[in-house]
This record gives sequence, C-alpha cells and structure tokens, in this order.
Amino acid sequence: MRWSTLLPVGALVAVGQHQPTQPFLHILQPIPSPPNQHQHQHLTPPSLRRAPPLPTGQILTSCTTPGLVALTFDDGPYIYTAPLLTLLSSFSPPVPATFFVNGANWVSGIDDESGPYPGILRRIVSEGHQLASHTWSHADLSGLSKEERVEEVEKLGDVLERVVGVRPRYIRPPYGSCDDGCLQDLEGMGVRVVGWGVDTRDWENDEETEIWGSVDKFERELGTDPAGESAIVLGHDVHRWTVEVLVGEMVRVARGRGFRLVTVGECLGDGGEGWYF
Ligand SMILES: [Zn+2]
Repeated sequence: MRWSTLLPVGALVAVGQHQPTQPFLHILQPIPSPPNQHQHQHLTPPSLRRAPPLPTGQILTSCTTPGLVALTFDDGPYIYTAPLLTLLSSFSPPVPATFFVNGANWVSGIDDESGPYPGILRRIVSEGHQLASHTWSHADLSGLSKEERVEEVEKLGDVLERVVGVRPRYIRPPYGSCDDGCLQDLEGMGVRVVGWGVDTRDWENDEETEIWGSVDKFERELGTDPAGESAIVLGHDVHRWTVEVLVGEMVRVARGRGFRLVTVGECLGDGGEGWYF
C-alpha cells in the first residue's frame, strides 16, 4: 500500500505499517525488576517507549512525539546559509535544525574546496544540525525514470560523503512531489521521505515587510498545545528575510508556547543513529 498524498504519521501507525528496525531494539529490551513504578518510568521515558520504527516508502509530515517542532530549510546551500547557522547557534539554548540541501540549485560547486560551501556543509553537521537530501538538481522526482531518481539521490550522496563524511538517509522531494513510483524507488534505496505540516511560504514573502506574512502564517498554523501537537516546518535558507526576521520569530513563538526545537530525525524518534547511511 502506498500513499501519494501527505499523511500524518499517526495515520500510518493506525494501519500498522511499521516493522521493528535495529536502532530501536535497545528501547524494547525489558527493564530488570524496577523497585518501584517511579523508577521504572524514569528509566524508560514514555516518549521513547512509544517511538515507532520509521517507515520508508511514505511521506512523513508530523513528529512522532508531541511537543516538538522541527524547523527545516530547503534549497541551500547559498549565501544566507552561513548567517543562518550563526543565528541558530546564538540562541540560548542553540536551535538544532535540518538542512535539505541540493548539489546544484542556487549555487554550483558545493564540493569546490576553494569556495565557501564545503565548509558550510561541514558546519551544518559539526554544529549539531541534521544534513539531509533535497536531490542533486531540485528535479521533480515524480516525472523521472527510476534510473534518473537513483542518479538524483546517489550523486548528491556521493558528494556529501566525500566532502562532509556523511550520506543522508532523509530526503525531501522537491515541490513535495513523489508519486507512487517515486516512493517505491526511494523505498528501494532505503531513504526516509519527509514532507512538512506547516509551510511558511517564505519564498513568496522575501521582503522586509512582506516576510511578516510568513510570520503570521506560522503563528496561525503552529499548534498551541505542546502536550498534544507537534510540527515539521518548511522554510528556505536561500532567502535573506527568512534569516533576518522569520527564523527569530519562529523560535520565539515556538519556545514561548512550550515547544522544543529539534531536528527532523529527533522529531521522528531518531536521535541520530539513523540520520545517515
Ligand atoms: Zn526545494
């Protein structure tokens, strides 16, 4: 069974598509004879006991644990990526985020060591963020052959592995477009396909005053109840006013409502063991 539209992870859980995978086995091991219930709860947090194995072949659009917000940035790297990294590290505590990067989109030469981008890509990982794939050329994967899809994923993976030392397991299809054949091919590659739940549409508000339209949209669409809600948020690190205004406002609003800002992997119950191949 496959989905060509965006479904919340909860819906996928409900139809039993999950199979246990290796990274979560340690969570499932029994706790030896806890002396009391309080200690048992302490040793095995409810959020970890509930965390489902991550499915492939489906588009994941919400976190598996309430109270989490994953800020994600597509289409980089570009000239605003480094300022965004500096901004994210300036918050107290620093804000982890997820960067879905391209190989050739707003810039070419992401592996040109005489330019700034290899260092920026390495900063993403070394500063605690998650590096993820947005394909090599920002192609619409639904319109491609299997061979072309493999090329779009593996070409970027090869370069990132050489330049940064990691090969991302998480991918966001450009335009959120991945039809049944695309999902089947990505499943064959073992990658995890991520969509979004809140779209800031920052790309159409990239002006000093208009960006507040994206701030307002985020404030309207983000939940107000961290005990029951979560969000994967779509933004782009290729726009000046995203970095200069929107990100700071999103952090302020999300933390003000009691949400914890995390990477996409952590939002999906994967603390890092499954981020990369
Ligand atoms: Zn994109």
